[in-house]
Amino acid sequence: MTDFSATRAAFHIPDGVIYLDGNSLGPLPKTAARRVSEVVTQEWGDHLIKGWNDCGWMDMPMRLGDRIGRLIGAEPGHVVVGDTLSIKVFQALAAAIKLNPDRRVILSDTGNFPSDLYMAEGLISLLGPDYDLRLVAPEDVSAAITEEIAVTLITEVDYRTGRKHDMAALTKKARAHGVVTVWDLAHSAGAIPVDLRGVGADFAVGCTYKYLNGGPGAPAFIYVSPDHAEKALPALSGWLGHDSPFAFDLGYRAGAGVSRMRVGTPPIVQMAALEAALDIWDGVDLQDVRNRSIDLSERFVAGVEAHCPGLVLASPRDPAQRGSQVSFRFEHGYAAMQALIANGVIGDFRAPDMMRFGFAPLYLDEDDIDAAVDTLRRVITDRLWETPEFQRKKAVT
Ligand SMILES: *Cc1c(COP(=O)(O)O)cnc(C)c1O
Repeated sequence: MTDFSATRAAFHIPDGVIYLDGNSLGPLPKTAARRVSEVVTQEWGDHLIKGWNDCGWMDMPMRLGDRIGRLIGAEPGHVVVGDTLSIKVFQALAAAIKLNPDRRVILSDTGNFPSDLYMAEGLISLLGPDYDLRLVAPEDVSAAITEEIAVTLITEVDYRTGRKHDMAALTKKARAHGVVTVWDLAHSAGAIPVDLRGVGADFAVGCTYKYLNGGPGAPAFIYVSPDHAEKALPALSGWLGHDSPFAFDLGYRAGAGVSRMRVGTPPIVQMAALEAALDIWDGVDLQDVRNRSIDLSERFVAGVEAHCPGLVLASPRDPAQRGSQVSFRFEHGYAAMQALIANGVIGDFRAPDMMRFGFAPLYLDEDDIDAAVDTLRRVITDRLWETPEFQRKKAVT
């Protein structure tokens, strides 16, 4: 059993704050500040360039990849960390589409995160006019998987509504039709159990600054299944994905397995923060997280529906059909969220009218949920959202 009081104590949550936005940026693990400081002052400061050899810096992308791999059901040695998620989407897609050379269509859905779709568009602009990105409604993805499709690019949990795809069923259907799958786990890793090996996924990508709590700008990860690891080419063929970077050959030769998905110099300071966050995950069972996240989110939904008139649930009502977040539509959602934040409950807003709340059992409990519902009730019934300062849109919503 996961000890949630121990995980809660491992995070710095400012006094008076209830944090329901760990689905956008996880909070600070208390050990991260010290770890980052050690890497800066002792490793960088004292070891200088020798740090790459002496301090294990060069192995960090694979070492951290394996620790994340455990949380997403990946085989050891098949996940590597680096770059941003958008970059990793591009690499996975570029590699996947080359594995299906007779097909031309990338299938995704209208609930996907825009950057994933923009990356697909960018790739297609390089591949040529006979390639196509086909978008269907999330509930129509299964029917749209046909022999015409080269690659599916699906984010398991919808960033706005929290709607969760049936990853096992879609992967099975894709395999039966010769379609290569790319799964985006941005809102899955650290939120729900994922079994990449069990479902037979081909590629997966995700970020580490959301539920994994790696810090702002923490690097992304990419998984390539053992079936493809020695065949898939990264498209962004950087020197650190080369078989022998320090031979400085003039031609590219892909490195072993998923390590070829490395591009350039890894951000060691940022990775140190991620490593501290992953220490907390070592004692955590994702099924425990899932059970508790369902309890907390169900409690929240029931409280909001009982006390906050005008808010309409935008997420699936059945918790089995959701990830670890819940959204409500509200006409004055942006201002209401600003008022809520000003009163110590932090969620976020997604256009046009969604108030979004993430549930991370590592640092939230029932009392937090009840207090958050009570504050939201005050914001709505006392019309705190009418205050002019809450109406002004900021750059990040
Ligand atoms: C958060 C998120 C991103 C963000 O990509 P970055 O390159 O890390 O900024 C991309 N895709 C999905 C599905 C996301 O949820």
